[in-house]
Amino acid sequence: MTSHRFRPRFAVVLIVLTTVIGLRPEVALGQSIPSPEEFFGFQMGADRKLARWDKLVEYYELLGRQSARLEVVHMGPTTLGNPFLALFISSPDNLAHLEDLRQMNATLSDPRGASEQDIERAIADGKAVIVQSMGLHSSEVGASQMAAELMYDLVTRTDDEITRILDETIAIMIPCFNPDGEIMIVDWYNENVGTDYEGVGLPWLYHHYIGHDNNRDAFQQNTVESQYGAKILFRDWIPQAYIDHHQMGAYGARIYVPPYAEPLRPSADPLVWREMSWYGAHIAYKEEEAGKDGVVNAAVYSGWGHFGFHWITPFHNIAGMLTESASARLATPLFVHPDQLNGSRGLPEYEAQTTFPNPWQGGWWHVRDIVEQQKIAAVAALDIAARHRATVLRNAYQKASRQIERGSSMSPAVFVIPADQHDPLTATKMVNRLLGQGIDVHQAPSEFTHEGRVYGAGSFVVSMAQPKRGVIRWLLGRTFYPDNTYTRDRDGNPIRPYDMSTDTMAEFMGVRVDPADSVVDTALATVDELLTPAGAVVQGQFGYVLDGRLNDSFKAANLLLAENIAVRRVTNSDAGAQAGDFIVPASATGTVVTEIARTTGVSFSALDIDATGVSQPLQRNRIGMYQRYYGGNMDEGWTRWLLEEFAFPYDTL
Ligand SMILES: [Zn+2]
Repeated sequence: MTSHRFRPRFAVVLIVLTTVIGLRPEVALGQSIPSPEEFFGFQMGADRKLARWDKLVEYYELLGRQSARLEVVHMGPTTLGNPFLALFISSPDNLAHLEDLRQMNATLSDPRGASEQDIERAIADGKAVIVQSMGLHSSEVGASQMAAELMYDLVTRTDDEITRILDETIAIMIPCFNPDGEIMIVDWYNENVGTDYEGVGLPWLYHHYIGHDNNRDAFQQNTVESQYGAKILFRDWIPQAYIDHHQMGAYGARIYVPPYAEPLRPSADPLVWREMSWYGAHIAYKEEEAGKDGVVNAAVYSGWGHFGFHWITPFHNIAGMLTESASARLATPLFVHPDQLNGSRGLPEYEAQTTFPNPWQGGWWHVRDIVEQQKIAAVAALDIAARHRATVLRNAYQKASRQIERGSSMSPAVFVIPADQHDPLTATKMVNRLLGQGIDVHQAPSEFTHEGRVYGAGSFVVSMAQPKRGVIRWLLGRTFYPDNTYTRDRDGNPIRPYDMSTDTMAEFMGVRVDPADSVVDTALATVDELLTPAGAVVQGQFGYVLDGRLNDSFKAANLLLAENIAVRRVTNSDAGAQAGDFIVPASATGTVVTEIARTTGVSFSALDIDATGVSQPLQRNRIGMYQRYYGGNMDEGWTRWLLEEFAFPYDTL
C-alpha cells in the first residue's frame, strides 16, 4: 500500500496556525473545500449526469490535500491502468496513529499469542474499523456518485454524529471497486444521452475480463481489483463490518438493507449474523427516520450466497453486508407504475410486512434517490459502530477467539494438502489463494504419517484452530446446499440458490485435500510468503520432457512455440515419457529453457530416449474468441483471461 499525499507546504503552515489559535484545523481548512456540486458542476445523482472516475480521483485528491480527516491511498493500477483508491477517514489524531491502530485491530481480529493486557488495551484504545465499497458493478451507477458526497460530508460536517464517527471509527472507503467499468459506463451513457438509446446497457463487459463476476472473484482473487480488496479486507485491516453498496432491479423494494434472508450458510460465528441484523436495523431505522419509502430487510438476498466480498466476509468474522437500491436506467429517471411493483424472496407480496412496513407507491425514480438512501445507510453503519465502539471491538475479539476455540475442538481439526498431487503446481496456486485470504498455512519440511496416511516432504497443513476457520471450511471442505423448507417451494420443487452454492476451491482446482480429525504432530514451518516455485532444468541426450499433467506445462509449451522451438507431444507412453507429456529438443537455447522453467515452475527433466516414434510435432491452432454485442459474455471474458494466463494467442472476433 503506497500512500500519496500531496499536501502542499502552505497547508501545513495553516494547520500549525489554526492549531495555535485553537481551531480544529480541518474545520478552518474545510471552508475552502468545494462541494461536489461546485466541483463537478452538478449535484451527485442529478438526472443524466455522471461524474467520471478521473474527475472523482481529482476530487478525492483535492479533499485529501485540504482535509486532515482524509488519507488517500493509491493501491495500484487497475486491469486497464486506472488508479484504484482506498480512502481512510478518521480524526486527524487517529490518522496520525494509523499503524498503531491497525496493530490493535490485528490483535483483536487474531488474538493468538496476545496477552489479556494487549486485548484490553486494544479494546480501550482501538477504533472500530468499517470498510464500505461502491461501484463494484459499474452499471449500478449510484454508489460511486454517492461516495463523493459522502466524503464531502465526512470531511466538512462538524456536528456530533460526524465528530463521534471520526473519533471512534476508522472508516475505509473503496470509492470505486471497478474504476475501469465506471469509465466505460460513463462514456457509454454520455455518448447516448439524448438519443433513442439513452439509458440502455453497455454492450460489452464492464470489467475487461470478468464483467459482473468481479464480485464472485473474491474467493479466488484473479483480478488486481480483487487483490486490492482482499489486501484491505482479509489481510491488512479485517474490519468489524463491511458494506458493499449495489443496485438491484427496478420494480421491487426501493432499497434492501441487511440482514440477509434465509437460508443461512453455517460455520461463521453467530455474533456475525446478529451484527448484520443490528447494523441493518439501524440502517433501516435511519432510512425511515429520513422518510425514505420502500426499505426492506431480511429479503431478496439469502444468507447462503456466492463467495463474493460481502458474502465471504462473514466467515472472516466481519459483518459482511450489502445494500441494494432499486435501479433507474443508468442516470436516466424511470417511471414505475404501481402495478409494476413486485415482491421477491422474503417479500411474497408487494405489501407492508414487518421487514417492509412502508411500501413505495410508485412514480419517478431518480439516481438522486439512490444517492440519498445509500448515503443514509453508509453514515448509519458508521454511527452505530461509533456509538458502541468498545462493544464492537470486544466482539471482534470474541468472534475470533470463539472460532479458534471451535477449530480446536470440532472436526475436522486440519486439512492436509499432500505434496503428492496430480498437478502440484496447481496445488501451489491454491495455497497462494489461501494466503490471499489471510489464512495461515504450514508446510512440513519432511515426510510424516498422519491418521494412517504417509505425506511427503513439502505437504501443507491448514489448521482449523485459527480465526478464519469458517473460510477454510467452505474453501476446502465438502459442501452440501441445504434441502429444507427454505429451499423448496410449496409443491416441493427445489428453489434455485441465489447464486453459486459452493465455493470448494479444492474441488474446482482438482487439488486433493484430506480432512483429518486430529492435529498434525510434526514440526511445521509457516508459509509466510506467496509460493513461486521454479522448475528444475536437467538436459538429457534427447532433450527435455515436461509433465503433461501440469496445467503450466501448456503455458511452457506455448512460450516455447513462441520462441520457434519445435515442441512435440507424446502420443504413446514409453520409458521416460508418458502420453500427454511435452518434448523439447536438446537444441533449445539454454537461457530460454531456464527462463521458462523459472516463470512457469515447470521442470524440464532429462529425456534419455528417442521419443520421436511415440510423439507428434505440436502445432498452434488459431483461436478465435467470439465477442457478442449486447452486454458482453462473462464466459467469453473468463476464457480470454484463461488463454492469456496460459499464453495461448487468440483473435477476438
Ligand atoms: Zn451489484
